[in-house]
Amino acid sequence: LSTRAAPVLNALDIASENELPGVYDGQWGGSGDVLESVCPTTGEVLARVRSASPEELHTALEKSKEAYKFFRSVPAPRRGEILRQIREALAAKRDELGALVSLEMGKIRTEGVGEVQEFIDIADYVVGLSRMMNGRVVASERPGHSILEVPNPLGLVAVLSAFNFPVAVYGWNLALSLAAGNATLWKPSETTSLCSIAVTKIISSVLEKNSIPGAVASLVTGGKYVGQAIVESRDVDMVSFTGSEHVGRIVGRTVQSRFGKVLLELGGNNASIVMPDADLSLAVPAVFFGAVGTAGQRCTSSRRLYLHRAVVAEFLERLQKLYASVRPGDPLAASTLLGPLHTRAAVGIYSDAVARLRKAGAEILAGGTQYVDLASPLDGGNFVRPTIAVPKKVDVADAIWREETFAPVLCVGVFDELEEAIQWNNGVPQGLSSSLWTRDLRNVGKWIGPAGSDAGIVNVNVGTSGAEIGAAFGGNKSTGWGRESGGDAWKQYVRWSACTINFSDEAPLAQGVQFSS
Ligand code: NAD
Repeated sequence: LSTRAAPVLNALDIASENELPGVYDGQWGGSGDVLESVCPTTGEVLARVRSASPEELHTALEKSKEAYKFFRSVPAPRRGEILRQIREALAAKRDELGALVSLEMGKIRTEGVGEVQEFIDIADYVVGLSRMMNGRVVASERPGHSILEVPNPLGLVAVLSAFNFPVAVYGWNLALSLAAGNATLWKPSETTSLCSIAVTKIISSVLEKNSIPGAVASLVTGGKYVGQAIVESRDVDMVSFTGSEHVGRIVGRTVQSRFGKVLLELGGNNASIVMPDADLSLAVPAVFFGAVGTAGQRCTSSRRLYLHRAVVAEFLERLQKLYASVRPGDPLAASTLLGPLHTRAAVGIYSDAVARLRKAGAEILAGGTQYVDLASPLDGGNFVRPTIAVPKKVDVADAIWREETFAPVLCVGVFDELEEAIQWNNGVPQGLSSSLWTRDLRNVGKWIGPAGSDAGIVNVNVGTSGAEIGAAFGGNKSTGWGRESGGDAWKQYVRWSACTINFSDEAPLAQGVQFSS
């Protein structure tokens, strides 16, 4: 291991000469395919991980179901107390875990640490929530009757997560699922196994300390086939899937076909709209962060920019200046703003998207190529130049505008009326994040109202990228309609029962129905 990688792995006790076990169900194991964790910054192999064999997955599912039977009877506030301890354990390792996210996923350090902070934040939130997961008493039309709406735990929740948030997405799910009294089984992305092992070590130590079965929070690393087996399993009551629209469509259909519960958090194709009265000193840096931050690898990254004709020239001049200032670097170094793409394959996707734009006659204002002249060890990494493209026209039926390219490519269009820009914003299949820049209250009203943005996140003078944990997070349309994290998202992790209780000496039927002769 290089001198840059070794300390990060050592700090979390996951450095090993041998292959690491990638399965946890109360005990560590793993005898399936070997997964390589490759550093996207240098190309160095960080570790090899033994994933779950089909038998091990079967055992993990069985043990998780057993653990659920124990855990469902633990009072919710007590479950909250366990989350408080998980929160403390994560906070104690926040910087180390954040550095591991940078090392293995490739996002810059402050974002890696921010991602762990998000797990800490949702754990905080859920400690309180564990005392507020309330049902309701509903007025009954029948004398001496009461109707209760009762939330009970759901069972086994499987979390299938994407590479780009290798810690936080699991955190959002685990916190709610655990507070609700479920067992949770995690299948992370096959390219971020180390993050999942480090997180599971932290969580399992808390569970063990509290004499809670480890299979309350199981881990099964693996690729597509492990994912498929989980999705098909009738042992899994809910599948919470975060990933691409392509895989989400398969997962959604499969779970639906066995009438399981499914929560989908899929791709985004997020637009920012800039009105003539926008404060450009705020809007330009926000679009820059939205499009270039995380090297364009957030589900909420800005991919489309719609500029009012009156601001086009000034906005693009200022944005190009910021793009020109960007230098690629080691995401672990404090001064770096641009890290690599996560995989070699992603570089190919970036190049194909730029080639498609060029072919369609788009003007490339910035970027458009890979970095080829970087010094060692960055020459082994997947670095691409953030790109601004101005296609000939806005046509939301065209793949250039319709499809999510998971890389730093921003397409720019020019509009004259807000209504036109909203139509473009809504004209794509995805509906995750959107952002309007204006100081005019009338525009705000239009934007957040019935004829406004149809996305799950509708921001005003705030960029598309990133979100806090307090509100429910998720997107509409082909983003999958899922909601995670705050708000009412917890209500999906329980099964609801309507319980009508008769306290009287009569047994009347509802709606006055008579059934006696
Ligand atoms: P992906 O769809 O390739 O993989 C996601 C997960 O699915 C991985 O764990 C993978 O191993 C697993 N998988 C692959 N094939 C499967 C199959 N047939 N059955 C079951 N599981 C299978 O996604 P990715 O490349 O890791 O992540 C990037 C995508 O995720 C982007 O589209 C991004 O927008 C999206 N994303 C969405 C959100 C959100 O909250 N909406 C958050 C993060 C990422």
